[in-house]
Amino acid sequence: MAEIMEVRNKKLILKDYVSGFPKESDMDVISSGTINLKLPEDSKGVLVKNLFLAADPHLRPLMKKADNFSVLQSFTPGSPLHGYGVARIVDSKHQDFKEGELVWGITGWEEYTIITSPETLFKIHHDDVPLSYYTGILGMPGLTAYAGFFHVCAPKRGERVFISAAAGAVGQLVGQFAKLSGCYVVGSVGTQAKVDLVKNKFGFDDAFNYKEEPDLDAALKRYFPEGIDIYFELVGGKMLDAVLLNMKVHGRIAVCGMISQYTLDNHEGITNIMSLVYKRIRMQGYNVVDYYDLYHKYVEFILPCIREGKISCVEDIVEGLESGALALVRVFRGLNIGKQVVSLAKE
Ligand code: NAP
Repeated sequence: MAEIMEVRNKKLILKDYVSGFPKESDMDVISSGTINLKLPEDSKGVLVKNLFLAADPHLRPLMKKADNFSVLQSFTPGSPLHGYGVARIVDSKHQDFKEGELVWGITGWEEYTIITSPETLFKIHHDDVPLSYYTGILGMPGLTAYAGFFHVCAPKRGERVFISAAAGAVGQLVGQFAKLSGCYVVGSVGTQAKVDLVKNKFGFDDAFNYKEEPDLDAALKRYFPEGIDIYFELVGGKMLDAVLLNMKVHGRIAVCGMISQYTLDNHEGITNIMSLVYKRIRMQGYNVVDYYDLYHKYVEFILPCIREGKISCVEDIVEGLESGALALVRVFRGLNIGKQVVSLAKE
């Protein structure tokens, strides 16, 4: 007879659908319920102990009820959130995974999760870098920056690159990839401390605080008197509208995300969209999931860069599932400096 080992399983649940900015009170940590640490014999999945959870911006769109335009499945109120994380396999009934292995991929915001389709998980093979990096530079945001910059933007040496949300998980990497590619790079961020960070630590040529610029068009003209070749779009809204006026002919815009719109019930309109026609701009949305097959190539590129100090990354780690809701709030208030992570490693 299989040994029965039941433990309590703390979870961070969404209390109800969210409107506007997420608040800590929209979520709750519940301790009810236990989980058996041995999977049933007929399972084909894996049971994991979650170690790090990524407070990613895309979790906010999942907090509202799905509408006709949604391509993602919303969270269910009363159930734990789910998103990218790093975990250790506790039990496996899948031939490709063994107890004790480390993985990153989609998991639950809880202590233990049963993952029924582990084929989507990536194994972690390198232990000379912090494990939390697999929520950021070595995980989904890193691959997002790599695929978006090198494949969607196709940069050329000397081109002029603008990046919004430049101090965040994706933006900080895109800026450093652009510098490695011989581009001129300017970022926009929401505080003076982030201006200093992207210039001094990540080596951007320049940066500005968009919250202190009453006229974004004028600000962009100051930093790009000859225009922008590549805009790496992470925020949307008024910034995108101003960027459109400042793109060069045949410029490219990689639309990675639009965080300024995620907390609005009605998205803002873009008034300068005709610039796409006048300037023959290529504007392309993309999703990292379409580039998963590049992951191993990306790791071969990024690991030596990390080890040799050619690329830096900054993380912002809070401890414990009880801080999970706060971590998500911080991302939408711009309080995170670098990749916002929740550590469960000590739980
Ligand atoms: P992040 O930059 O680490 O954190 C979000 C940052 O966005 C905040 O720190 C804040 O920085 C800024 N922000 C928040 N609200 C804003 C607003 N209303 N206007 C302007 N800036 C605002 O997040 P990330 O993980 O790197 O993600 C950045 C973007 O990439 C998001 O839009 C996300 O959805 C997208 N993304 C897309 C994919 C994909 O596959 N397409 C994958 C990953 C991420 P400031 O202090 O500078 O304002």
